[in-house]
Amino acid sequence: MPKGGYMQKILRVDLTTQKVSVESLPEKVARDFMGGAGFAIKYLFDEVPAGTDPLGAENKLIFASGPLSGTNASCASRMAMATKSPLTGAVGMSLSGGYFPVELKFAGYDVLIIEGKSEEPVYIWIHDDKVSLRSAKGLWGTATLDCQQIIKDNLNDQNIRIACIGPAGENLSKMACIINERRAFGRKGVGAVMGSKNLKAIAVRGRQKVPVASQDAFKKANAVMLKAMKDSEALYPALGKFGTPVVIEVLWGSGTFPAKNFSATGQWNPVEQLGVGANEVRKIGKEPCYKCPVGCAQIKLVKEGPYAGTLSVPDYETIYSFGGNLGVTDLDSIIYADRLCDGLGLDTISVGLTIGFAMELFEKGIITKEDTGGMELTFGNHEAAIQLVSQIAYRKGFGSILADGSKIAAEKIGKGSEKFAMHIKGLEMPGYDPRGLKTHGLSFATAYTGADHNRGYSSQDVFGSPVPEPVDRLDPKGKGRMAKWNQDMHAVTCDAATMCNFIIDAYFPEGAAKNTADMVNAVTGFDYTAQEVEMIGERINNLARVFNAREGFDRKDDTFPERILTEPLKAGASKDHYISKEELNLMLDEYYSERKWTAQGLPTKEILLTLGLDDAVTELERLASKS
Ligand code: SF4
Repeated sequence: MPKGGYMQKILRVDLTTQKVSVESLPEKVARDFMGGAGFAIKYLFDEVPAGTDPLGAENKLIFASGPLSGTNASCASRMAMATKSPLTGAVGMSLSGGYFPVELKFAGYDVLIIEGKSEEPVYIWIHDDKVSLRSAKGLWGTATLDCQQIIKDNLNDQNIRIACIGPAGENLSKMACIINERRAFGRKGVGAVMGSKNLKAIAVRGRQKVPVASQDAFKKANAVMLKAMKDSEALYPALGKFGTPVVIEVLWGSGTFPAKNFSATGQWNPVEQLGVGANEVRKIGKEPCYKCPVGCAQIKLVKEGPYAGTLSVPDYETIYSFGGNLGVTDLDSIIYADRLCDGLGLDTISVGLTIGFAMELFEKGIITKEDTGGMELTFGNHEAAIQLVSQIAYRKGFGSILADGSKIAAEKIGKGSEKFAMHIKGLEMPGYDPRGLKTHGLSFATAYTGADHNRGYSSQDVFGSPVPEPVDRLDPKGKGRMAKWNQDMHAVTCDAATMCNFIIDAYFPEGAAKNTADMVNAVTGFDYTAQEVEMIGERINNLARVFNAREGFDRKDDTFPERILTEPLKAGASKDHYISKEELNLMLDEYYSERKWTAQGLPTKEILLTLGLDDAVTELERLASKS
């Protein structure tokens, strides 16, 4: 067994039978999948068969930390969770930082698998090896921050860490997320899965230490990382100082900051009212994750006006989704919307994009005041947007049409509205216009979770990073190789080792695989090479792809909304660019070839066997025999 890094235990809670059990973490799983998303997707693949209803008792919620979580490693506090997404029907993998992830490790568990469905609202209380189910009847209906405080007070311990859902998850909104402190397991409707199980919260308190195989080797590897962090111009001076809003100026400069539901990218300038300067005057502090010396998460306070007194931690994506995307210049209203979404347990990207979709329909006359319940749903109307957030969470009024995201809303509304729904595989687009960022775009189109900026963030496009090689962000050629590299490297360093995304985006791209190997080897006693580390990322992406394939996903789903394929950008530094169907096909052909997948986008037997995914071969053969 590994000498450190893992608590070597899987905690399983069956909500139907109320049975709690503990299993050993197999060494082969640890070695082949490392942790985090590797573990979560491995168990999802093994235990959630094709055709499972995402909101049925058979779906599972699988939380998994990485080997570095809970050690002294910097920025390694994150945790993955996987489920079958009710929003996309594909793998719903989500990551969160904060303190909840390490607390589960301190309680003695690497993986938590929740299955079944409780008859009545409950929460899970994990206190080291004592695990119980408690009634959550009195908590049902509470906002997430209130819920966390009530549980801490009831259990008489303010250091308990809690992940919970808000009213949106209880009402099964497919845009619901799971909140811990003010952080989210976001996107893909994972909060609705929790709500469907009548599970309000998971509370954890642990007092164990994470073993480290070699303290000397760990100190050396950590020192290399700390030095790289210190030397990076992008880290402390930019991200640490200003937080993720630093990217606003960068994207405006490349003409790729999306505005008004992607209809005004390059035309709508966000810099003065939403950029770093506007954020800085509202900043009152930082809220870093466990053992993070950077602290990109920055607390903003609204000091005056109708939203005065609101305190929240909006990141770039929220400023985009409730700002430029809605044509809103009032940063205070965005901070308020962020706080409201956190409390109700809603994903800010999906909700902002779904409201932006509705605003465009309203402006085009496809929907009217009769549909919106009298709301003047024009771009820039932040009061209407805020009203809709609550309606979505409670499935009230026009919000009931929007509550399950833009794809389903378009199906309900009809009248040609689908072409304005900005999603891929059902997941709403993050704040990067792929028409001017083609590596990033290819990652969105092919990511196993849908339009997801965290499954292969392309620093080469966004920041001009020359690692592993420079790219021309506007040229579709050569993007297959780069997208694969970004996806595999992020899958292992960020999603499996659970180090913060910025480890390869902002300060250490060229050394990420080697440093991840050194850090994980020091902690676990394994002997990974940099190449093996990269291969773990590839293994995760292939296994997730086979999970999706047995749900019916293939090449036809690796695409963009119609606007991206047909409408050239009208202004800015990416003017006249778009991704034609021919360009998309070229990029997909290159990408599938790099991955050794078929022209239909399915992994071949050859690559699956190379990666040791023999079970996945059996699944694909079973699929082929049925067709
Ligand atoms: S840089 Fe930000 S997201 Fe990353 S660990 Fe630190 S606070 Fe968390």
